Amino acid sequence: MSGVRTLVVDHPLVAHKLTALRDERTDSPTFRRLADELVTLLAYEATRDVRVEPVEVTTPVATTTGVRLSKPVPLVVPVLRAGLGMLDGMTRLLPTAEVGFLGMVRDESSLVATAYANRLPEDLSGREVFVLDPMLATGGTLATTFQLLMDRGADRITAICLLAAPEGVATVEAAFPDDSVRVVCAGVDERLTDRGYITPGLGDAGDRLYGVV
Ligand code: URA
Repeated sequence: MSGVRTLVVDHPLVAHKLTALRDERTDSPTFRRLADELVTLLAYEATRDVRVEPVEVTTPVATTTGVRLSKPVPLVVPVLRAGLGMLDGMTRLLPTAEVGFLGMVRDESSLVATAYANRLPEDLSGREVFVLDPMLATGGTLATTFQLLMDRGADRITAICLLAAPEGVATVEAAFPDDSVRVVCAGVDERLTDRGYITPGLGDAGDRLYGVV
């Protein structure tokens, strides 16, 4: 298949937790816990092809061959602010991963996204990168993030999102017509509203995680 591969994880626990996240009555502490659990489930699918190498292991009974994560270890990049709410759920599954940070801001008139905070290794050659951003809305931020990572040499990039809009998926697919990037999410909703919210969505993910600042 050409273009960005978008995987919607089809699992009853994913659907259950997503439904609870959508509920406007879900308070921030519960929302954080559910987002954390949901990311771990999505990360399980997102890491299905993570690079491993054979390693010999001696059990109390015999010696056998297993695997361990290859070096360089994957890099996890939460996109500030809301991506931070996904970090623990991801590193629970990949505790040896390194973590870089990216803060993206969008100019509301030009709609162009730029990085206002960047703590990433200069050289990402040969690195697998997992980007954490809960809402794939217009796709502008994610496309800019992917390009920034590719410019540093990242060769396999997977974004883990809680929810996506069809418009955002289309934007990212058009920007990356090869198989270099993937999106793993819990659902693709109907569309974006005039105000740029995913509908039915779950509202502003940052506000629901951390309150309105
Ligand atoms: N960002 C959010 O937090 N929610 C949306 O619905 C769209 C973008």
